[in-house]
Amino acid sequence: MLKTGQQHLESLRDGRKVYIGDELVEDVTTHPAFRNAAQSFAMIYDRKRDPENVDVMAFEDDDGEICSSWYLRPKSRDDLRKRRETHRRVADWTCGLIGRSPDHVASFVTGLLWDPDLFEDNLKGSAANLKAYYDYMRKNDTFACYTVLPPQGARQPELYQREGLTVPTLRVTAEDKEGITLNGMKMLGTSAVFSNETWVGNLLPLGEEQAAESVTCAVPLNWAGVSIWARKPFERFAVSEFDAPFAWKFDETDSMVIFEDVKVPWERVFTHNNAALSRNIYFETPSHAMGNHQSNVRFQEKLKLIVGIARKSAELNNVLQIPAVRDTLGRLAAAEAGLGAMIAGQIEDAEEMAPGYLNVNRRHMYGTLHWCTQNYAILCETVRELMGGGPFQMPADISVINNPELKKKFETYWSVPGQSAIERMKFLKLGWDLLGSDFAGRHQQYERFYAGPAFINTLYSFMNCPWDEMTGTVDRVLAGYDVPAAGEMRHMAAE
Ligand SMILES: Cc1cc2nc3c(=O)[nH]c(=O)nc-3n(C[C@H](O)[C@H](O)[C@H](O)COP(=O)(O)OP(=O)(O)OC[C@H]3O[C@@H](n4cnc5c(N)ncnc54)[C@H](O)[C@@H]3O)c2cc1C
Repeated sequence: MLKTGQQHLESLRDGRKVYIGDELVEDVTTHPAFRNAAQSFAMIYDRKRDPENVDVMAFEDDDGEICSSWYLRPKSRDDLRKRRETHRRVADWTCGLIGRSPDHVASFVTGLLWDPDLFEDNLKGSAANLKAYYDYMRKNDTFACYTVLPPQGARQPELYQREGLTVPTLRVTAEDKEGITLNGMKMLGTSAVFSNETWVGNLLPLGEEQAAESVTCAVPLNWAGVSIWARKPFERFAVSEFDAPFAWKFDETDSMVIFEDVKVPWERVFTHNNAALSRNIYFETPSHAMGNHQSNVRFQEKLKLIVGIARKSAELNNVLQIPAVRDTLGRLAAAEAGLGAMIAGQIEDAEEMAPGYLNVNRRHMYGTLHWCTQNYAILCETVRELMGGGPFQMPADISVINNPELKKKFETYWSVPGQSAIERMKFLKLGWDLLGSDFAGRHQQYERFYAGPAFINTLYSFMNCPWDEMTGTVDRVLAGYDVPAAGEMRHMAAE
């Protein structure tokens, strides 16, 4: 099924416990901190169904049901292109500012289906349960976020034990024939406020002694014992759409999710008591690659916006003719073009990890992920340089036009040839919201950390590199000449 935006909004009025500080939010779809972002998620569901999008963004499953393309299990490059274009349209509609859109975790779950034995060998019945969960998600158009990290600072349990403190990390505290009981906290549920469920798992390596933490399961966010603790919501502080157009409607939010005696039936448990496996499932299948391919595609749409702001900034500040400015714009344009090629290459050089199915090339995907995480701050910095002090020359907010006298003065002093004061303010507010505001600062951190810290990202490229191919070239060159016989060696200078 392809749910409507309205159906998605209704599904969020489910009694979930969301806290902003000490405030318990009654309805995330109407609360001033979340309502516009909730509408943005609803918009994705509605536009996906539109006649001009549905052919690309949906497919017919084996039961003849129409489902979102992010659940498509690709068998050809055309299927991979369909998935890419689906991610691209979602990112285009949200300016690449919603990282955990409904296509992200769904792609992770779809990728996990490649190797059922991996699950079954650990937990009897889990392969069928995983397939049933995928069917459930696909048929209900379920939106899941994921919480796959222990809370920061809680990764060395012995420090807590020494102080007599409870280790806050989520773990299985009991199990019976119905299922397991979860207690503890997980980070960091981006989009949790707007999701139906959270996928609980482990993307960081666990030690064997952490077996109780090595659970992978899916938990609806309104279940008894689950609470969502949101960070400061930027939407609440956006004065108006004019003053902060992105914070106004695209703050996906990030939240800690707490589990207190949450009962999860076995049908929703996919790994249990196996520290290594709970992480390996993402890498021994295309899961991690499919999920992060979405991130690569999303990043490109955001980069288009950033490059567009750079160009407009140069035009509006009347510096476009300066060779050094053109050089900067050329470098930004080259970066965006190169990124597009890196993403296309993932499909062109697709891999077949399981017979009959194709997945994006993992090495290319990790190379792209590395490039994006390392370059986001540099790209933003370049455009901020071009913006100069413009954002701070503007009045505090657009309320200045409420007073006819102030409005007249604003128009007199702030207008420039070819651009009214209000047009100029609109653009500079937009640029600052993306590149300098509180919202922008969160995006800097998001792009750096959403797929784990830099040293882990580099490790993915290390692990997936065909080192024999690299060292083979060195060996071939070395084998092409011999050690000179004694006395044969002559220095050029000596001849
Ligand atoms: C905005 C945002 C959204 C996020 N969304 C999600 C989400 O949706 N789901 C989810 O599960 N997680 C999410 N995360 C969490 C993210 O995966 C983690 O932030 C990331 O893995 C880093 O972990 P940490 O924040 O605990 O930092 P730490 O692990 O505490 O690291 C802090 C710093 O120390 C460095 N460091 C730590 N250990 C080493 C080492 N051994 N060698 C070298 N350097 C080291 C790190 O590189 C980093 O710079 C999100 C994070 C952010 C910031």
